[in-house]
Amino acid sequence: MIYFDHNATTPLDGRVLEAMLPFLKSFYCNPSSLYRQGRIVRSAIDAAREQVAALAGAAPSQIIFTSGGTESNNLALATLPRQGRLAISATEHPSITEPALRLKKLGTRLNIVNVDANGMIAQDAIDKLIKEKPDLVSIMLANNETGVIQDLASYARQLSANGIMVHTDAVQALGKIPVNFKQLGVHLMSLSSHKIYGPKGCGALVFEKGVEILPVLLGGGQEQGIRAGTENVAAIIGFGKAAELARIELAKRYDRLLALREQLETGLKTIPGLSIFASQSNRLPNTVQFGIPEIDGEMLLMKLDQKGFAVSSGSACASGGGSPSPVLIAMNVEDGLAKSAIRISLGLANTEAEVFEFINQLKVLACQA
Ligand code: PLP
Repeated sequence: MIYFDHNATTPLDGRVLEAMLPFLKSFYCNPSSLYRQGRIVRSAIDAAREQVAALAGAAPSQIIFTSGGTESNNLALATLPRQGRLAISATEHPSITEPALRLKKLGTRLNIVNVDANGMIAQDAIDKLIKEKPDLVSIMLANNETGVIQDLASYARQLSANGIMVHTDAVQALGKIPVNFKQLGVHLMSLSSHKIYGPKGCGALVFEKGVEILPVLLGGGQEQGIRAGTENVAAIIGFGKAAELARIELAKRYDRLLALREQLETGLKTIPGLSIFASQSNRLPNTVQFGIPEIDGEMLLMKLDQKGFAVSSGSACASGGGSPSPVLIAMNVEDGLAKSAIRISLGLANTEAEVFEFINQLKVLACQA
């Protein structure tokens, strides 16, 4: 298999597995236990917290470990006061849109912040938000389908100056571009381990001190009472190690992924009629989403699968629905073209030869369709 679906998940880095193994084999004690072994496990969690904080530009005490990006996003929305006002961008992941819709049913006023044809939030949408004054705005840093990176620090500065709290889903941005909680100026930020070569089922919510988070899980008081439940120790250690590696290797990873993306895009542009979505926008170095008119994306995905390529038609969760991606619809992409969407998300083990082979196969399949 040639794996081109790293925005869905990444393989576990061997160095991360090595760091995790002792906590699956020998150090099994509960980190809340007061005897020596328990204290050793507690210190290892504290070290992982420091590693994640260093990658995310936050203090260790601002990191709450969760079960992943989905839980972090749900928890972030739980900060909203009863009968509050929420705004989310039109291109958010379902782990924001679904809880937002449920809150709406329960009486929250929900506004959707539109994006332009390039997937970007325009300044007039921010001006409108400042007039509407929601309690909380959720804007993702980088989109999982198109890779579009929002000008978040600028939006957050303006919104925050007007007393509006800002959450960002930085799940796809982390480890691919510099992500600095403090410099972004947001109040809450969601992260996930398995998008950065760490284990699945682990993530974090970064929070500004003073922001009141209403816990979803109550019980043993773990994670400063914000997220109860015995810690997923090995996964947290793995997330920490993956974060440390991503921080050390970030510039090298960025350059390598961008070079592969440029090679891929140069090849794609030779296919007649093909459009690269949001090609004018600042995007993640590893992500390209494209469409070919008259070609069904899911059919093409299956044919690529038969040739050994693992790609996506959009976000992993949205695949299989048969309806066009809400992200592309929000960008005003015509329905037929949106249904032809294929997303390639490159990773560290991909090679120039694999990209070359992909373009060759795609050219053949596009002609046959
Ligand atoms: N947010 C974005 C932008 C994502 O792409 C994903 C996963 O695809 C998530 C949140 C959910 O993260 P997790 O799989 O860790 O729950």
